[in-house]
Amino acid sequence: AALILGVVFQVNPLFAQQKNIDKIDRKVDSVLRLMTLEEKIGQLNQYTGDRDATGPITTSPNKLKDIKDGKLGSMLNIRGAKETREVQEMAMQSRMKIPLIFGLDVIHGYRVTFPIPLAEAASWDLAELENAARVAGRESAASGIHWTFAPMVDIGRDPRWGRVMEGAGEDTYLGSKIAYARVKGFQGKGLGNLDAIMACVKHFAAYGAAIAGRDYAAVDMSDHSLWEYYLPPFKAALDAGAATFMNSFNTLNGIPATGNTYLQRDILKGKWGFKGFMVSDWGSIGEMVPHGYAKDKKQAAELAIKAGSDMDMESRSYLPNLGQLVKENKVSIALIDDAVRRVLRKKFELGLFDDPYRFSNATRQEKELNSAENKKASLKMAEKSIVLLKNNNQTLPLSKSLKKIAVIGPLAKSEKDMQGFWSVSWQNDKLVSLYEGLQNKIGNQTELLYAKGCEISDTSKAGFAAAIEVAKQADVVVMAVGEAYDMSGEAKSKANIQIPGVQEDLIKAIQATGKPVVVLIMAGRPLVFNWTADNVNAIMYTWWLGSEAGNAIANVLYGDYNPAGKLPMTFPRDEGQIPIYYNYLSTGRPSQNDKDTRYRSAYLDIQNSPKYTFGYGLSYTTFDYSNLKLSKTAMAMNDKINISFTLKNTGKFDGEEVVQVYLQDMFASVVRPVKELKDFQKVMLKAGESKAINFVIDKEKLSFFNQKLQWAAEPGDFKLMIGTASDNIKLESNFALTN
Ligand code: BGC
Repeated sequence: AALILGVVFQVNPLFAQQKNIDKIDRKVDSVLRLMTLEEKIGQLNQYTGDRDATGPITTSPNKLKDIKDGKLGSMLNIRGAKETREVQEMAMQSRMKIPLIFGLDVIHGYRVTFPIPLAEAASWDLAELENAARVAGRESAASGIHWTFAPMVDIGRDPRWGRVMEGAGEDTYLGSKIAYARVKGFQGKGLGNLDAIMACVKHFAAYGAAIAGRDYAAVDMSDHSLWEYYLPPFKAALDAGAATFMNSFNTLNGIPATGNTYLQRDILKGKWGFKGFMVSDWGSIGEMVPHGYAKDKKQAAELAIKAGSDMDMESRSYLPNLGQLVKENKVSIALIDDAVRRVLRKKFELGLFDDPYRFSNATRQEKELNSAENKKASLKMAEKSIVLLKNNNQTLPLSKSLKKIAVIGPLAKSEKDMQGFWSVSWQNDKLVSLYEGLQNKIGNQTELLYAKGCEISDTSKAGFAAAIEVAKQADVVVMAVGEAYDMSGEAKSKANIQIPGVQEDLIKAIQATGKPVVVLIMAGRPLVFNWTADNVNAIMYTWWLGSEAGNAIANVLYGDYNPAGKLPMTFPRDEGQIPIYYNYLSTGRPSQNDKDTRYRSAYLDIQNSPKYTFGYGLSYTTFDYSNLKLSKTAMAMNDKINISFTLKNTGKFDGEEVVQVYLQDMFASVVRPVKELKDFQKVMLKAGESKAINFVIDKEKLSFFNQKLQWAAEPGDFKLMIGTASDNIKLESNFALTN
């Protein structure tokens, strides 16, 4: 029997994995047994390597002493093969020689910058999204980094909240798929591989629902909404094997997420069985004092460790207080041990106990950073992130025989802004501006003219006249307007999300010349730009696209890449509509038609509908949907319905279409959204080509969290909607779920 068991152990990968976990657990325990209480608490302490008041790590004697004394488990904001090695050498001078973990916000690329996460989400291209994270993982791993504080998987329904740029948008289904892909990308073939870094899923939880879109503000949310809309992307990231989680600055229903036992212990570590560790957000343990939840940092430390926060990022609450709390019997040693075990386990899995310097390898860094292959990946991702919002009169693509193109706008020659938030401080490779991208693209027969026109946020119109002159000389005008890199991001909430400054006035002035105008909007969030949307013929949303921004945009402008991006967030027509999202609940007085405002759930002054909806985006070609077939119109609980239809590229360009499948549960024990994305496929079709597209509907797709917060489907009627955007449904059918 032992022999048979042995064979099963070796051939079954699951058994093999379990065996490995047990082996690591034994190693962790053997280290833990030798540690003093002080050393254990040290493992739960994380300092920044730069940016703080005491200066960079190399000049901060207190921090250096703490490392040598074994009072630090991890350091963030340090990077580079040489620098990380130097700091690790200090940790190796400590009594226990436990290696440090180096963490960094690798949010959209490390040296090669990728489009901001919200832009990447517009690609709906899971393979490409995974690859983008893979490249970032490889580059940072080669620079001594073990851990990224990404992906941010917070659902964002409020474009006033500047951090929507860091997430995957408003939708739970799309957000979950992207969360999964990103974790897989960062962690590659698994921890222990030299090109894999730990993902950190953040911010647990509900951070994106900050009241009025103000960063760090309170969140009040029903348990149902939390489970139904906000938690699934976290669960998906966990299913992808996410090594760590980060908690959050906000309160949730009056309890700070950092001190929230329900979130961290009951849900994440309990029900979901998370085995990794939870790091606090920057200073968030200490922030429970100003929140009014703890009377001082000592009590904050007690509340946080009890609630399940394993590591203290920079609040310096754990190191000075946990020892005393243990002595006073307020915190049990078992609780400390559990947190330390979680941290040590990851250090073993990363292979740091075998070789603490294994990631800090200058040769690998030299080879990996900024490689041609990585740049190519960024270019591809950038092309796929662009969303064509409008293209009347086939203004685009541009003809190669144009004589003069006027490039106008404050972002036309900007490199820095292409980088977007969360990168500027360490990514210093060359970025390609729009102007440069066009220069690379055009042949000898085309001349580029340029005028800035105005600044991004100034109110001066002094540059308008020169811009108008330039426009008059050109065959076509390409305008680059939008936000500077630091206008969307952390702590970048805005009440007014129109295109900043006088930029839209500049568009009006240029449009008045009568020349064909193409407007490119570069921003980190959905903006409001009604005049432009209603008056200009061609508009592309290009977000902040990273290293290859200009090249990607030029490829799309000239039709060398046919745009296929679809909005991952709803664009309001007015800030007063926010929060606005496509999967709202119907009221008892639905506003069927925007004009009927009598006792309807509608505004008196504007329409309910957004300017551009979730899932919207055009192509240079057109797609026809036909011949919908359902294998049956009623299915039992454990049954399936096979759906098929024909998708045809009816235009003149090859192109990709994101086919979107929405469902509505017509009546249920909890009111269900008017429609919900439940599946999608990105399909490539040559001009004129058709393809049969297949989807499957099963119980999983029909389930939701019921009143008891159980995930279940209920018998009843459903509506199936298949389309090219959430408000552009091409095929519809009803079906029933029976017992
Ligand atoms: C942010 C986190 C980030 C951390 C470390 C915090 O302010 O909220 O998302 O990972 O800083 O830089």
